[in-house]
Amino acid sequence: MAELNFDLVVLGGGSGGYSAAIRATELGMNVALIEKNKLGGTCLHVGCIPTKAMLHAAEVADVAREGHICGINSSFNGVDMDAVNAFREGIVSKKFKGLQGLIKARGITVIEGEGRLVSPTTIAVGADTIVGKNIVLATGSYSKSLPGLEIGGRVITSEHALQMNYVPNKVAILGGGVIGVEFASVWKSFGAEVVIIEGLPHLVPNEEESISKALERAYRKRGIDYKLGVRFQGVTQNDSGVVVTLESGETVEADLLLVAVGRGAATAGCGFEEVGITMDRGYVITNERLATNIPGVYAVGDIVPGLQLAHRGYQHGFFVAEEIAGLNPVVISDVNIPKVTYCEPEIASVGLTEAKAAEQYGAEKISSYDYNLAGNGKSEILGTAGSVKVVRVVDGPVVGVHMIGARVGELIGEAQLVVNWEAHPEDIAPLLHAHPTQNESLGEAFLFLAGKPLHTL
Ligand SMILES: Cc1cc2nc3c(=O)[nH]c(=O)nc-3n(C[C@H](O)[C@H](O)[C@H](O)COP(=O)(O)OP(=O)(O)OC[C@H]3O[C@@H](n4cnc5c(N)ncnc54)[C@H](O)[C@@H]3O)c2cc1C
Repeated sequence: MAELNFDLVVLGGGSGGYSAAIRATELGMNVALIEKNKLGGTCLHVGCIPTKAMLHAAEVADVAREGHICGINSSFNGVDMDAVNAFREGIVSKKFKGLQGLIKARGITVIEGEGRLVSPTTIAVGADTIVGKNIVLATGSYSKSLPGLEIGGRVITSEHALQMNYVPNKVAILGGGVIGVEFASVWKSFGAEVVIIEGLPHLVPNEEESISKALERAYRKRGIDYKLGVRFQGVTQNDSGVVVTLESGETVEADLLLVAVGRGAATAGCGFEEVGITMDRGYVITNERLATNIPGVYAVGDIVPGLQLAHRGYQHGFFVAEEIAGLNPVVISDVNIPKVTYCEPEIASVGLTEAKAAEQYGAEKISSYDYNLAGNGKSEILGTAGSVKVVRVVDGPVVGVHMIGARVGELIGEAQLVVNWEAHPEDIAPLLHAHPTQNESLGEAFLFLAGKPLHTL
């Protein structure tokens, strides 16, 4: 039994926790990072990285199928799932090794084991007590289900979906949010029949409506089926498949049901309530500076209500370390966090939708331009349809950018800079975009909004 003392103790070694630990050591703090599973958390092991590796394999399958479009003799001859899994695991394990090396090189003390908050300054790990002048809670999230919908057998979550060694013939996906549409994209490219069931009226319902509709058109064209505005009622399973019943009375038969209805905060059993931390449905409530109601205790990442994204976790971690060091860091509101959905076609957005901007500033104060990628040379070469919509305040800054099309995720860097720097289209219109790139589509929209359209009318 030992008592170890640190300037900062971080509970959870995912994106939020490890970035807090790294920044705190840069600022001269002595840091302990407690992790019960693997450093890197959801993002590295069962989230961003493995799913994007699968999406890349899916893209390669599509490219092989479509070689003839540009005169290349290629064909899609099937998927070797063991090899796809080896490719994915190879990437994860390289990144994992790199992260472990980085954490070690920074001099962060990693404590392996399950931690439990036992006082505002103390976390118990087995028989040891780890004491910190400040504490950061970063225990992350888990795949949720619906009441009465039990996970098991042929009813799976994204974690199980990543472990499969075969391509199913037909999959039903419950939930048309980010995780649901990404897996739909992978499985379709791998040759499966896919049907998405979404209770709200649109796929990716958190995006600008025009983007949701464009994705629906693209998925229809790809042969991905979806049922919108219809609620799940129940599922039965036997040795050969599942039968999903919807409240409309319809049934969907498939080999598997992927439950992708969102993620809950992984805080059960962590001792937070017992120490008096204010919580709501498992989430830790903080102020905008990520401080809980208990002085010296902060929370970061997926356990803080809002967008559940790895880069939000990184930013939270940096923010809290700098806050503790007295550097008064800048708050980034969730709306200005860039979001990318890596399905085919990709979706990327930052800032306000046109409807929200109109609500906030008044409809007469908002103007927007929706640039069709049909006018963009590089998009034509890639054979992608899509659009880039820029929303601005009249005589004011750009407040939102919403994009859909192959590879548009790579354009979000410029978009988030423009929105977060509150740039006016007139300021950025003179700046150049290399030709031919998809970036030019952003440039065309800025030029249009600045009153000097180039290839648009
Ligand atoms: C399928 C999928 C795809 C995703 N794709 C993307 C994407 O493309 N881009 C993106 O930005 N985000 C993506 N995400 C979301 C992203 O993974 C999360 O937002 C991010 O991992 C949150 O980081 P975190 O640090 O809050 O939590 P986590 O990464 O969940 O880390 C929490 C860590 O705490 C540890 N822990 C928990 N309790 C304890 C305890 N009591 N003691 C010790 N350790 C504990 C856990 O083992 C875990 O390692 C995806 C998620 C999923 C599931």
